[in-house]
Amino acid sequence: LVLLLAINSQHRQTINCTMKALRDRILKDGKCYPGGILKVDKFINHQMDPNLMKRICVEFIRRYASTEINKIITIEASGIAPAIMMGFLLDLPVVFAKKKPSTMADMLSTTVFSFTKQREYHVVISKEYLREGDKVLFVDDFLAYGNAAKGIIDLCKQAGAELVGMGFIIEKAFQHGREVIEQAGVRCESLAIIESLENCEIKLKED
Ligand code: 5GP
Repeated sequence: LVLLLAINSQHRQTINCTMKALRDRILKDGKCYPGGILKVDKFINHQMDPNLMKRICVEFIRRYASTEINKIITIEASGIAPAIMMGFLLDLPVVFAKKKPSTMADMLSTTVFSFTKQREYHVVISKEYLREGDKVLFVDDFLAYGNAAKGIIDLCKQAGAELVGMGFIIEKAFQHGREVIEQAGVRCESLAIIESLENCEIKLKED
């Protein structure tokens, strides 16, 4: 029992270290923009930190350890980095929903509103890569209003695939995207939760 408790406590320390590293990095390198936008171009969205990304993905894998998954999906472009790392670590295929008009013949299609770009766009996935019976984990960099998530939920429904969960590196809780996901009955996990960006001050939710 003592050994188990020791292992458990060491494991928890590793998790806390990962989340602390992410939180510290957001506070150190995150930049706030008007309209509730956070830029993390120094380690996620432009320059990338592969070591931190690996730790982030290990934490997603820990949280979904008891869930059967056969495919990782994301949406281009910013979700591709965490998704490919997840796929690599789990040895699973990775599919990204495409935003651009495509020459794809047989595809599933939905529309997503982008609040960073303030416009609606089509998002497609080939029917070949999202099918009935798939058990899909979606990962992305940010959860804001849940519009991208809504589009992915729709695509999975059209395909007859099971969306077993969604994982976000950063959730902006004040934009309430989690409600969209949970109302659809889908599990939502995010690693750093921002409570407010008011007055361009980053306020993170305590653990
Ligand atoms: P949602 O669809 O949940 O409203 O917004 C999520 C999508 O918009 C993510 O794929 C992300 O790329 C982008 N996004 C939303 N908020 C932010 C933000 O504050 N910073 C950055 N860099 N991207 C964001």
